[in-house]
Amino acid sequence: MDRPNILFIMSDDHASHAISCYSGRINQTPNIDRIANEGARLDNCFCTNSICSPSRATILTGKYSHLNGVKTLADKFDGRQPHVAKLLQQGGYQTCIIGKWHLGHGGNSDPTGFDYWCVLPGQGEYHNPVFYDMGEEKQYRGYATDIITDMCIDWLNNRDRNRPFFLMCHHKAPHRPWEPSEKYMALYEDVDIPEPETLFDDYDTRSDAARLAEMRISHHLTRTDVKEDPPVHMEGKELTRWYYQRYIKDYLRCIASIDESVGRLLDYLDKEGIAGNTVVIYTSDQGFFLGDHGWYDKRFMYEESLRMPFLIRYPEGIKPGTIIKDIIINTDFAPTFLDYAGLNIPDDMQGYSIRPILEGKEVDGWRHAMYYRYWMDRDDHCVAAHYGIRTKRYKLICYYAPGRYYNGEYPKSAKDTKWPQWELFDLHNDKYELKNVYGDSAYADVVKELKEELDRLRKELKDDD
Ligand code: CA
Repeated sequence: MDRPNILFIMSDDHASHAISCYSGRINQTPNIDRIANEGARLDNCFCTNSICSPSRATILTGKYSHLNGVKTLADKFDGRQPHVAKLLQQGGYQTCIIGKWHLGHGGNSDPTGFDYWCVLPGQGEYHNPVFYDMGEEKQYRGYATDIITDMCIDWLNNRDRNRPFFLMCHHKAPHRPWEPSEKYMALYEDVDIPEPETLFDDYDTRSDAARLAEMRISHHLTRTDVKEDPPVHMEGKELTRWYYQRYIKDYLRCIASIDESVGRLLDYLDKEGIAGNTVVIYTSDQGFFLGDHGWYDKRFMYEESLRMPFLIRYPEGIKPGTIIKDIIINTDFAPTFLDYAGLNIPDDMQGYSIRPILEGKEVDGWRHAMYYRYWMDRDDHCVAAHYGIRTKRYKLICYYAPGRYYNGEYPKSAKDTKWPQWELFDLHNDKYELKNVYGDSAYADVVKELKEELDRLRKELKDDD
């Protein structure tokens, strides 16, 4: 059998609860859902460091941030290190990346291991974006999501049909500042989007990290984000609701273009007659808060931010409608692609191929816990640096340093707080993570066991600072 093509579609900041096949109740994504219906939906796929550049570096290398060198948005990727695109290229694949790169430019940070690359500089623009086409600056007219899709289809049309391909289609959307295309501007105009259960979270029982984070729907969205000033005299919950509706509608409009793009790519595979021998993945670099806990953005180890959507279709190996509950993390992506390509998985990759799981096989000793670490304590959202462990039932988080602004200053009230601070959630009884039971004596044994497992994982993963 021929080696399969791999089409990896990744958006930026697309939370799984804004995808209808994940029981999202706020929008419909029929084309993205097609991948799940005809393949598999992973319900416990988690990001090891929930922020853009670090997740991208982990996906490429199969390694945690402390080993691939990209711990924060300020770190540039060193493309001299081994990674999955290089290995696939050396193994005979045609390789290509189009769209968001966000791992630095120039020096050793331009994409390596790709036969062709055309990427947005930094975050890129939604409208009339500039791209670096193999390093050459070119401006395109139109909307980023549509342009990226067109470029992917052009590249596929011009590929060598005698060799398998690995195409990374990386969208900018639906990243802030949430600018929809003209086509979807009026979508949701006359409806109210349902609010999350935790929109008015008061952070009672939780660590100071939750209280100090500056990413609240009610306080920290700007005029650029919501495109107009709130009505005068509006305040309190009414104002929060106004901000939420402005924010979520533009976010979902950006996703409407992504869903259309996925549909175009799936149709292309059908038309070419290669859908049967192509592994198609839809994912996002991390999750996102959609008003959950009163927030936008990501970073925290809470569920909405930690969970990545992950849908995969491969008719020759995955049964339609498969649902996977095992804990999968973004270090597993690279080993999985190499497995499908029939290539060796380097020993120093920290993830494991999920192919046997997708094929319905029992895998002895599959991980029952995952390790998380958010390093970026310095930025304007002031999220405390933290690490933690998540099992199927529990989540233990240690906030070890308060978040600061880029200029190094702490938010005023951070000076009165002591660190580290811990949180424990029993997800069976508290799926929204509202009740921190770290100090509850009924959970003393659980805390002890989780701390031991956390120490063990930190050693195993060589995160020992
Ligand atoms: Ca992101």
